[in-house]
Amino acid sequence: MGVTAVTSRDHLGWGRNLRAEHRVSRPSTVRAAAVCAAAPGGPRLGHGLGRSYGDVALNPGAGLIETRGLDRFVSFDPATGILEAEAGVTLAEVLAVLARPEAGGGGWFLPVTPGTRFVTLGGAAANDVHGKNHHRTGSFGRHLLSLELARSDGRVLTCSPTENADLFAATIGGLGLTGLILRLRLAMMRVEGLAMEAEDIAFGSLEGYFALTAESEAEWDYTAAWVDCLATGEALGRGIFSRSRHAAGQGAAPPPTVPRCSLALTPPLSMVNGLSLRAFNAAYRRRLGSSGRSHTIGGYEKVLYPLDAIGGWNRLYGPRGFHQFQGVVPPSDAAAVVAGLLREIARSEQGSPLVVLKGFGGLASPGMLSFPMEGTTLALDFPAKGLDTLRLLARLEAITVEAQGRLYPAKDSVMAAETFAAGYPAAGAFAEWIDPAFSSGFARRVGLVR
Ligand SMILES: Cc1cc2nc3c(=O)[nH]c(=O)nc-3n(C[C@H](O)[C@H](O)[C@H](O)COP(=O)(O)OP(=O)(O)OC[C@H]3O[C@@H](n4cnc5c(N)ncnc54)[C@H](O)[C@@H]3O)c2cc1C
Repeated sequence: MGVTAVTSRDHLGWGRNLRAEHRVSRPSTVRAAAVCAAAPGGPRLGHGLGRSYGDVALNPGAGLIETRGLDRFVSFDPATGILEAEAGVTLAEVLAVLARPEAGGGGWFLPVTPGTRFVTLGGAAANDVHGKNHHRTGSFGRHLLSLELARSDGRVLTCSPTENADLFAATIGGLGLTGLILRLRLAMMRVEGLAMEAEDIAFGSLEGYFALTAESEAEWDYTAAWVDCLATGEALGRGIFSRSRHAAGQGAAPPPTVPRCSLALTPPLSMVNGLSLRAFNAAYRRRLGSSGRSHTIGGYEKVLYPLDAIGGWNRLYGPRGFHQFQGVVPPSDAAAVVAGLLREIARSEQGSPLVVLKGFGGLASPGMLSFPMEGTTLALDFPAKGLDTLRLLARLEAITVEAQGRLYPAKDSVMAAETFAAGYPAAGAFAEWIDPAFSSGFARRVGLVR
């Protein structure tokens, strides 16, 4: 029937801090996937490439439907840029096939991409992912024209802004709870060329970050900053601002669809600790030299996907794994709130080199549970060290809630049900669209599903 089924303990969140047993189905056709969605038995959940950090893609003790077998391109119209593909196709595969130089220059590119290209189209839709160009193009769901959704009652529904529109809005950013996405239609973005012009600029304080953001957003497609999470006092928030834009030319050869090399073993202890963090941050700040600036033109891989260079880098945090905090706070008092978050983090000395500070623009996200909203988002990894880490995460969560912000489910493994309810006021309306046979660890933890 085109499905293999196994019991597996191999499914972890990307943070590697949760491990659970699952019944896993692996359909290899959309027809078989629809049968899996409607099969008798306990709760089930779609699972892409497992790049979500916590438990949105996990369903401990229950079923996962792995979608990587749904890897076919259905059609592409070079006149309009409309791509139709199955939900298990990855962003890396879309880029490899479509981001190719054309005779007259220019090319097609993903309108929105997260910081890794190793995610599936279905996973990108279900988390309504964002990229460093949010101020230009909004979230991924804004570029979805329609999707096909398999429900547990056996129906396969086409959902779009004009057909089953509420279910469409619930499924974008719907964390896999409305059914299994089988196919999607996505509007690709026309770009001048496949090269990237990029600038890195050092800044000495949080004020510097906000000034560079304001100065850059009109002219640059992608903006984000690295922040030294150990800096305090006048240097609080110092870091390196990166801005880039598509440019004429080919750039480099298209990057591979799987990592070039991967860490196969987990070290017995976290390689990210106070000592390595201090050394890395000092060296990274110095990399721009006395000018404090760099300017390059090259391929998009290094600019958009630096972490994809080494597969399995998440193993560096050792056997206990790590947590990511990602919150967004409204623009009105973002500077003060981000300063408060950074002060807590610096005081704890528990951070890591992986810090991203970024502005979200005003383009509304189409999903009922979409994370992106106008404001500033801070994302940071923390090695999992038990209670100390959980206490720190709770303080960051409290600051975010107090500022009327929200946390990103795709990155979360700890937020309280009350935090989710406060950050996602449409959760009540969303609940009506949850498929009764679908569930996840996250959904049970925050009370979306009982
Ligand atoms: C290095 C790195 C950088 C990242 N940077 C960003 C970033 O910049 N911006 C951002 O937004 N995110 C970012 N992420 C998070 C990542 O983009 C999302 O978690 C993404 O959704 C993962 O896709 P996936 O295919 O791995 O899906 P999974 O993680 O397997 O699943 C994600 C969700 O989608 C659901 N799902 C998967 N397939 C289907 C389907 N066919 N039908 C219905 N539901 C489905 C799952 O149930 C789950 O709820 C990053 C992750 C990593 C590891």
